[in-house]
Amino acid sequence: MPIYTLILAICFSVNAFAGDGHDHEHRHHDAHEHGVGEFNLATDGQKLIIEIELPAHDVVGFEHEARTKEQKSAVNAAVEKLKIAGQNVSIPSRANCKADAAAKVESGLIKNDKGHEHHVDGHHDDGHHDHDHKGHHDEDHASGEGHSEFSIQYSYKCSDIDKLTQVEVPMFKNFSRMKKLKVQALTASGSVSVVLTPKQSVINLGQ
Ligand SMILES: [Zn+2]
Repeated sequence: MPIYTLILAICFSVNAFAGDGHDHEHRHHDAHEHGVGEFNLATDGQKLIIEIELPAHDVVGFEHEARTKEQKSAVNAAVEKLKIAGQNVSIPSRANCKADAAAKVESGLIKNDKGHEHHVDGHHDDGHHDHDHKGHHDEDHASGEGHSEFSIQYSYKCSDIDKLTQVEVPMFKNFSRMKKLKVQALTASGSVSVVLTPKQSVINLGQ
């Protein structure tokens, strides 16, 4: 079933970010484009999983580690906002979806208790080349700062999932630097691939 492929892909990407922990000039994921996030939606039976990855730039305006009090509180405020699924993703009530787990929000901008650590060489032989700055000439990065993302996961159980004909994404209103969201959706009625913008923020799932 393709659904599992998507879920695996989602899990893999979540783990990739979770394992990063902090941003570092040599840590590049697939270099993202500022203003462009990714939104993956998948259903499996009554389960609905939504995974969103946003450049940290789009969320808080910077991608380096939060150092000042202001930066840390900006990150914390953004995390709190992202945890309120209903403000970021709007699911039609007729589908009767209820959150079946707390929203997961991760970012590498605030370190947890580990403090500053340096990467061992093993991180660099995974096929990613250093300084993978394709098309990125953002001034934010000229100083050698790497990219960093926010990773968000919402999961639901929907008793009328066949009525899940569309999902609206009002999160553009919460984060004004977001310009595009690349959506990949996979439901019982097929797959949908669409790019959302602040003016067109509805995913039609084709049921
Ligand atoms: Zn970036």
